[in-house]
Amino acid sequence: MQKICEQCSAPFEITPDDLKFLEKVSPEFGGKKELIPPPTLCPDCRQQRRLSWRNERNLYHRKCDLTGKQIISMYAPENAQNVYDQEVFWSDAWDPLAYGRDFDFQKSFFAQFADLFSATPRINLINKEHQNSEYCNFCMRNKNCYLLFTSGECEDSFYLNRSWTSRNCCDCSNLKDGELCYEIIDSDHCYHCQYLTNCANCSDCVIGYNLRGCRDCFACYNLQNAQFCIGNARYTKEKYLALVEELRKDIPAALKQFEKRTQSMPRKYMDCINAEGCTGNAIINAKNAVDCYEVIEMQDCKYVANATHMKDAMDVNNDDHSELVYEAVGSETNYMHCFNDICWFNKNLLYCSLCFHCEHCFGCSSLKHKKYCILNKQYTKEEYEKLMPKIIETMRKLGEWGEFFPTKFSPFGYNETMASDFFPLAQEKVASKGWKWNRSEDQEHYMGKKVTVPETIEETDDAICKEILRCSVTDKPYKIIPQELSLYRQMRIAPPKKCPEQRYKERMALHNPRRLWARNCAKCSAELQTTYSPDRPEVLYCESCYHSSIF
Ligand SMILES: [Zn+2]
Ligand SMILES: [Zn+2]
Repeated sequence: MQKICEQCSAPFEITPDDLKFLEKVSPEFGGKKELIPPPTLCPDCRQQRRLSWRNERNLYHRKCDLTGKQIISMYAPENAQNVYDQEVFWSDAWDPLAYGRDFDFQKSFFAQFADLFSATPRINLINKEHQNSEYCNFCMRNKNCYLLFTSGECEDSFYLNRSWTSRNCCDCSNLKDGELCYEIIDSDHCYHCQYLTNCANCSDCVIGYNLRGCRDCFACYNLQNAQFCIGNARYTKEKYLALVEELRKDIPAALKQFEKRTQSMPRKYMDCINAEGCTGNAIINAKNAVDCYEVIEMQDCKYVANATHMKDAMDVNNDDHSELVYEAVGSETNYMHCFNDICWFNKNLLYCSLCFHCEHCFGCSSLKHKKYCILNKQYTKEEYEKLMPKIIETMRKLGEWGEFFPTKFSPFGYNETMASDFFPLAQEKVASKGWKWNRSEDQEHYMGKKVTVPETIEETDDAICKEILRCSVTDKPYKIIPQELSLYRQMRIAPPKKCPEQRYKERMALHNPRRLWARNCAKCSAELQTTYSPDRPEVLYCESCYHSSIF
């Protein structure tokens, strides 16, 4: 079925398999299914809408609205939302059912949900079982970490996102099992490495793309088990060390030259390992993952990004260990889960936000361990099953049933959310759509003296940690913390002249977009679905040509 997106007017396709999936995830009340209709927005606009509900990286100082304690929060101080410190949120010091209300059949569900949502307390951060890692969000079990987002089990690390079990790392994205790593993207098991993309099992490598099991390599790409190579040429150990000593003096120049050279190198059309019947990018161990990005252990999924261990899911961002999920963001361990935002360990949830360990709930906010609730009000099973079809009928009439929460009801400014990372919009455009904009950035103008950041780590004094620095690109203030400086010293890295947010943006820009184009293999002309747009200069190989000519 061909449809036209109601938001951007782009044509998009709904396949018979999509319809089958929608039937499968449609909820049942008293033995009768309430069918979820096909989407009215294209996959991009659907992803944008979900991501407009996720603020991962923007943290603020504010007070806990219950205890008055000074806290760090993903909700800006001017945000009208009631925000509770994590400890208070998880405690019995307050009752989410106290905010319960009747469903009003004369009114739109989304408007009623927005009222409930703005009344119920929100948790300041999602940061579980951490030690000395207060400035992190959507994180678990980190120790001595600073500004980590969607990361877990890391130690002594700074400015990471989507990184796991890594130690002494700084400025990395999608890194697993790294140690002493700096500016590493999409890599696994790396030790004492800098500026690598798409590498695994490497040590002492600086600047590289697609290296496997390499040691002591500088500015190399597409190599396996190599040592003492510079620009893919082999040297003796002595010569290598002497040359690298020189090259290290101007890393920015070496990076620029590498970027130019690697544009003409052959690349695999998609970055994947053990991916059968899959399209998208950065896929590991998956079967039938279609149009999926940065995912691991997937089966029968479509339009899913940043997720692991998912089965039977469509239109999902940032979810792990879940099955039968449709239109959800920021979830974990759910079953039969549709139209939910930040909900963990639930079954049969519909249109909920920030609910944990719940079953059979609809339109609830900040609920824990509850069953059969609607708008935070408790019902019996029988009452719930009688009310739900009527509510869905009301939603159907208003065109709400089958749609995720509208962006205009998101508690965040568009510019604070992941939506602006993938679908950037100017402030005027956001305003014209009736969406919010966070103005904290406007107040971030630091008027103090301009501190010159030294060119090398040898020239850098401890005193730099006391200074407020200004980003060379955005002019935003930033700091270097003492633990970070000692890591730079250990790794002989010059202190950064850009703020952490700009560094993150530049790493993000190295990722291909979450979009597919049809191209052909440069060797055998096989048809490919790839995230490299046709106007890009990279030479693409299909899986078999790539393996026969590269590794
Ligand atoms: Zn669209
Ligand atoms: Zn080929």
